[in-house]
Amino acid sequence: MYPRPFHYHRAGSLKEAAKMLSELGDDARLLAGGQSLIPLMKLRFANPTHLIDLNFIAGTSFIREEDDRLHFGPLTRHVEIETSEVAGKIPILHDCAAGIADVQVRNRGTIGGSLAEADPSGDWATVLATLTTEVRCSAANDARRTVPLGEFIKDAYTTALAHDELIDEIVVRKPARNSGGAYIAFKRAAPVYPTAGVAVQLTLEGDICTHAAIALGCVGLTAIRATEAESALRSQPITRQSIAAACEAARAAADPQPDMRGSAEYKRALVGALTKRAIETAVLRAGGKPVEVSHLYA
Ligand SMILES: Cc1cc2nc3c(=O)[nH]c(=O)nc-3n(C[C@H](O)[C@H](O)[C@H](O)COP(=O)(O)OP(=O)(O)OC[C@H]3O[C@@H](n4cnc5c(N)ncnc54)[C@H](O)[C@@H]3O)c2cc1C
Repeated sequence: MYPRPFHYHRAGSLKEAAKMLSELGDDARLLAGGQSLIPLMKLRFANPTHLIDLNFIAGTSFIREEDDRLHFGPLTRHVEIETSEVAGKIPILHDCAAGIADVQVRNRGTIGGSLAEADPSGDWATVLATLTTEVRCSAANDARRTVPLGEFIKDAYTTALAHDELIDEIVVRKPARNSGGAYIAFKRAAPVYPTAGVAVQLTLEGDICTHAAIALGCVGLTAIRATEAESALRSQPITRQSIAAACEAARAAADPQPDMRGSAEYKRALVGALTKRAIETAVLRAGGKPVEVSHLYA
């Protein structure tokens, strides 16, 4: 189906894009990679009157390392993160970028668009929830604010952005030494969203797990932090028993809906299995082993 007719605007800067949002009103939408918005427009689930294209703004796609943080431009494409040596310093970021859909989607889709979309099945929100992530937003009146990711995504398809605000940067703190993370999802095929996904980020001091962050994707209205599962690992050695307890707690934290991808019970079982694999990989990486992982396909 063709989208409904709309007015196309090409923004020359992020500031101009925010100004356009404020002047054009509620029926204006930003266009980044178009990998969520355009399909919705073709289905006529989204019918903006004005489309403000961000793609011709210089300097919006970057990955920079500054002190203990990585900075991502809002229009940084998934493929740029997948192939970036700098982003690869946090291996869970590579796991995420490399597993999103197929190469066509990764070539166009952006990290900023993914967070702004707040799709319950989107991978970035789940992965970035296990790291210290800030979303920097700016508005037409030059107001800038920094929102922790946990406060940025409010609900399914709902963020803290005001109508005339946009994401202008995403900042991720590098994990401490002796940290390791992994993101593993289960998918029916590459070009579809996962059925379930689990992100784990750990820090070890010797045998002891001093920090654990576990987030579950596609099994709730937003990414779910599995805090009981984290507690099952923290302040003790990682053993078969503590991993089993964490998996059980992650299963209990999941809140999946039955749909064409599977029943709620099936998705809970997947969460348990993915949590085990992600913890095992995170432990190996925390110990300095460069382990490759990829998503699991049906
Ligand atoms: C076939 C297919 C399979 C896919 N599979 C997956 C998958 O497995 N995992 C996954 O995570 N994603 C998947 N996606 C989605 C993909 O990752 C998108 O790139 C992403 O969700 C949206 O990014 P975008 O740049 O394309 O945003 P767009 O579609 O351009 O925009 C999405 C929304 O964000 C808003 N927006 C965009 N940029 C900004 C900004 N800087 N500030 C404020 N608002 C902004 C737009 O106005 C719009 O409302 C898939 C998409 C397709 C078509």
